[in-house]
Amino acid sequence: MKAKIHPKYYDTTITCACGNVIKTRCTVKDIRVEICSNCHPFFTGKQKLIDTAGRIDRFRKKYGLDKKGNKKSKES
Ligand SMILES: [Zn+2]
Repeated sequence: MKAKIHPKYYDTTITCACGNVIKTRCTVKDIRVEICSNCHPFFTGKQKLIDTAGRIDRFRKKYGLDKKGNKKSKES
């Protein structure tokens, strides 16, 4: 590489919200991401809801639903 024309190049850890940590080298240090190749449905092959800002929880609360989408019984 030619000297002085390149930006600083760091050892970087990319930390995903799923707990996956990727070590790489980059011009910025310590990156935090919400989705990575380890947990993205495209790579896992699983259908998964990507919930941004708890929208699904808010929806469930609004309609009194549990996690499976059933109405909460008043007996419990
Ligand atoms: Zn991830």
